[in-house]
Amino acid sequence: MARLDLSNVPRGVFIGGEWEDLPDNPRIVVSNPATDEVLAEIADASAEDGRRAVEAAVAAQEAFAAMSPQERSEILIRAHALLLEAKEELAAIMTAEMGKPFVEACGEVDYSAAYLHWYAQEGVRVQGSHSQAPSGRGQIVLSREPVGVSLLITPWNFPLAMGARKIAPAIATGCAVVVKPAEKTPLTMLFLARLFQRAGIPAGALNVVTTSASSALTAPILAEGKVRHLSFTGSTRVGSLLHGQCSEHMIRTSLELGGNAPFILFGDADIDSALTEVTAAKLRNMGEACTAANRILVQREIAGEFAERLGERFSALRLGDGLDERTDLGPMIDRASCERIQGLVNDAVAKGARIVTGGALPEGAGSFYPPTVLADVTRDARLMSEEIFGPVAAIVAFDDEDDAVAVANDTEYGLAGYLMTESLARAMRVSQRLEVGMVGINSGIISDAAAPLGGVKASGLGREGGVLGIDEFLEYKYTFIPNS
Ligand code: NAD
Repeated sequence: MARLDLSNVPRGVFIGGEWEDLPDNPRIVVSNPATDEVLAEIADASAEDGRRAVEAAVAAQEAFAAMSPQERSEILIRAHALLLEAKEELAAIMTAEMGKPFVEACGEVDYSAAYLHWYAQEGVRVQGSHSQAPSGRGQIVLSREPVGVSLLITPWNFPLAMGARKIAPAIATGCAVVVKPAEKTPLTMLFLARLFQRAGIPAGALNVVTTSASSALTAPILAEGKVRHLSFTGSTRVGSLLHGQCSEHMIRTSLELGGNAPFILFGDADIDSALTEVTAAKLRNMGEACTAANRILVQREIAGEFAERLGERFSALRLGDGLDERTDLGPMIDRASCERIQGLVNDAVAKGARIVTGGALPEGAGSFYPPTVLADVTRDARLMSEEIFGPVAAIVAFDDEDDAVAVANDTEYGLAGYLMTESLARAMRVSQRLEVGMVGINSGIISDAAAPLGGVKASGLGREGGVLGIDEFLEYKYTFIPNS
């Protein structure tokens, strides 16, 4: 078993460079979804605590923006080193509160560290431009400035990476932030904030408030308008609500929302590598990923064989506590999630799908759902239009390229899409026709700190990561200088 040590996890909120236990506030009870054991009780911040966090960020903003890009880059470089040093300690904490296997949690620490490294380098290369006005009247100078105080709201499924990819560009550009992590997985973010404190983040530039009453804390903040940017990762339902709340004060929004990724497997693809890539796209993070393959569209002539072979793979996987190194697949985040997934499976079966493996809730402690393969899924099944967010591979047969593209695009979402074929021409053609922000060709894993991640349609606004990710935290300013 991986060793779990919670002694370095703060139990309070981080406001203005100080840890506050908030002894008079209620507690959030954080538990392990694999065992139902209580891990920690932490401060449950009130709306007033949220307001104080924004005040601390506002007070820090000017000096933080004025700090040299080099100095801010060095904070990120130090935090990067500290994060990698704490990899196993933090990975075990993440596994305990979220459920993912320890190896995947270690991978998430590496992935998160890559964002700190990337933005440490991007922050010192922010550029504007300078040109002569065509009229000859003067010079046009375009500069970039930090957008200002930012509210960062993160989900439970990647409790570290979703925070790191917002915090890193914010620090790189000089935006003071208030982070509100998900209630179910706050320990990872509290640990990260302590690392940033050790890395020398100025007081007030990074604030973290944990709460069980998200809306009560964030709605007044957005209504007040001191925050100039909201960066949110989570469901489309909540993203849309927050987008509305930002409209009154024209608060900039970056929204990374839900997905319904199609994985299109053409008949000419190599089946052995397809089994590996579909498994990765489906079961990474137990299927609790916005980029998870939600609908596996397989060309009719290979659909039956593929479903059987995927079923063999899935049934060999070991379900268990993520801290146990023998575990392939950890628990879902909670029981409600298991029941929601079972409802989607039951609906698909009632409409004609066949269970190849899995498909039934196990007895006993923990929020487990078995790896499941459904064959012959019909196009009217609910899971064709809803995010499964669990280890259920729904296999749908298609006839030809046009049919595959039509089914793939028949969704309000547009985050990721995958396709496998041996034909380069077809890969390019289909990739262009998919209404998504990201495409994996012959690859079930696309995440990379150097790539701009994000979606179209109801999957969000803006991009995170890569060169584009820093733009979300920058404004343009045009200055005119007359020639005489
Ligand atoms: P969620 O929308 O329920 O919650 C996300 C965050 O918003 C949490 O911190 C939550 O406490 C907070 N929140 C919830 N209601 C709120 C409200 N009314 N006001 C303010 N804050 C509120 O999503 P979740 O269940 O935590 O995460 C899963 C969802 O996130 C899935 O839909 C998934 O696809 C999406 N996601 C998207 C990406 C991406 O990059 N596009 C990445 C990861 C997850």
